[in-house]
Amino acid sequence: MTQAPTHVTDCPLDRVRPPDSSTRSIGPVIAVDLGTTNCRVAAIQGFNPVCIPAERSEGSPSVVALGPGGRILTGHPARGQQAANPALAVWGIKGLMSAPYGDKKVKWLYDQLRCKVVKGDDGFPAVVLGDRTFPARELAALLLIEARERAQNFLRQPVHRVVLTQPPTRKDDPLNQLMAAAAALAGMHVERTISEPTAVALGAFGKHKGKPERTAMVCDWGGGRFQASLVRYAARQCQVLGTEGNVALCGAELDKRVLDLLMRKLPTGVKLAGDANNPAALYRVAGAAEYAKIQLSTQTETRVRVPFAVMVGNQVGDFDVTLSRAELDGLAKPLIDAGLKMCEQIMSQKSMFPGDVDEVLLVGEQCRMPLFQQRVKEFFVGAPAYLDEPGPSVVLSAARLGSSTSTPPPSGPVKR
Ligand code: ADP
Ligand code: MG
Repeated sequence: MTQAPTHVTDCPLDRVRPPDSSTRSIGPVIAVDLGTTNCRVAAIQGFNPVCIPAERSEGSPSVVALGPGGRILTGHPARGQQAANPALAVWGIKGLMSAPYGDKKVKWLYDQLRCKVVKGDDGFPAVVLGDRTFPARELAALLLIEARERAQNFLRQPVHRVVLTQPPTRKDDPLNQLMAAAAALAGMHVERTISEPTAVALGAFGKHKGKPERTAMVCDWGGGRFQASLVRYAARQCQVLGTEGNVALCGAELDKRVLDLLMRKLPTGVKLAGDANNPAALYRVAGAAEYAKIQLSTQTETRVRVPFAVMVGNQVGDFDVTLSRAELDGLAKPLIDAGLKMCEQIMSQKSMFPGDVDEVLLVGEQCRMPLFQQRVKEFFVGAPAYLDEPGPSVVLSAARLGSSTSTPPPSGPVKR
C-alpha cells in the first residue's frame, strides 16, 4: 500500500470565492442533484434540460478523498482512491448533513465509513483528511465546485446561479442552511430549492394520461436512502402530503449484503487477499459486488471475477463466484418490504389505501431492480408504476422548473 499523505497541499475550496451581488442575476441557472451516491448537474439547452455528463458517466460519484501528493479529489478520481485507500475517502455526504453529529438516524452511515468522523464546528459531522478537518458543508461544497466546473466547461460560460434539489424537509431543517452555505462556498447563489418528489411529480405531469389533479406515491430508492413521499399534484403545483426516509434500506446496504453472500460462497481454504491494514482487495470485490447487482437487473445470472484478490494457501488467485438473480432477490426482499411498509404508514396517516393512489413514480437507479417493480405493482393494486429516467429525472425537472421561475439569461445564442 502507498504511504498515505498527511498534509493537504491542494484544495479547490481555497481557490473559489463566495458569490458577490453583482452576479446575482447573471448567466445561466444550473440544477444540481447532490445525491448520496451520484452528483448530477443539468442546464437548459435551447428549450430542453440536458444532464451534463461527467467523465465516464451521467453523474459524478459523490465522493471526496485525499489523493497522492495531498490533493483533494472529487468524483471518479476520489472513487478510485476510495477503492485503494478507504480511510482517506468519504461518501454519503448528504446523509452526514441530514442530522447532527452522533444522531442515531444515520448510525448506519457512520458504521460504513472508514474515514475519521468527528463533531464539526456547527455540531454536524466533519471528516478528517490528512491535517485538515472538513465540516460536512465543505465536503458538499467540494462536490458543488466540481458540478459547477462541469457545467461551465459544457456551457462555455461562467455559472453563478444554482437550483438545488433535496429531500422533503421543513423550512427550518438545518439541511437547508447547510446546503445554502455549501453553495456559497462553491461560489454560487441559490436560486431556488426544490424538493425531490416535487421535481419528480411536476416533471411527470403531462407525460402520462390521467386526471388533472392526481395523487402519487414517489418511491425514491437510491444508493443512500429509501424515501417514500405521498404527493398531490397538478400542472404547476405539488403538495407533499407525507414523507418517510430510511438510510438503512439504501442501495449500498444491498451491496453490503451481496458482498457478504459472495464471501460466504468462497470455497473452503480460499481467503481474501490483504487484511485490515490493506483492504484494497476487499474494496475491489465490493465494487464487483455492486456491479453484479446492477448486471442482475437485466441478466438472470452473473459471474463475479476479480483478478488476484484471494489467497489459496500461499498462492494468489482470482476471486471467482457466480450470483443469480434469485439469490439477489432473496437479499433484497426484506429491504423492499420495509420500504413498502413505509409507504403503507404514510398512507394510513392520511386514511388512504394503496388503491387510492393514481400512480407510483419510481426514481433512483436502484428502482431498476425487476423485483422492486414487481412488488410495487402487487402492492399498489392496479396503479401504474412509471420508471422514467430514474437517475437524472430529478435534476432534469429541477432545471426546467428553475428556468421557468428565474430571471432569463441575457438573450443571444448559447455558446457551445
Ligand atoms: P443517489 O440518489 O444516492 O445518488 P442513484 O439514484 O444514483 O442514487 O442510485 C444509485 C444506486 O443505484 C446505487 O446503489 C447503484 O448500485 C444502484 N444502481 C445503479 N444502476 C442500477 C441498476 N441498473 N439496477 C439496480 N441498481 C442500480
Ligand atoms: Mg437521488
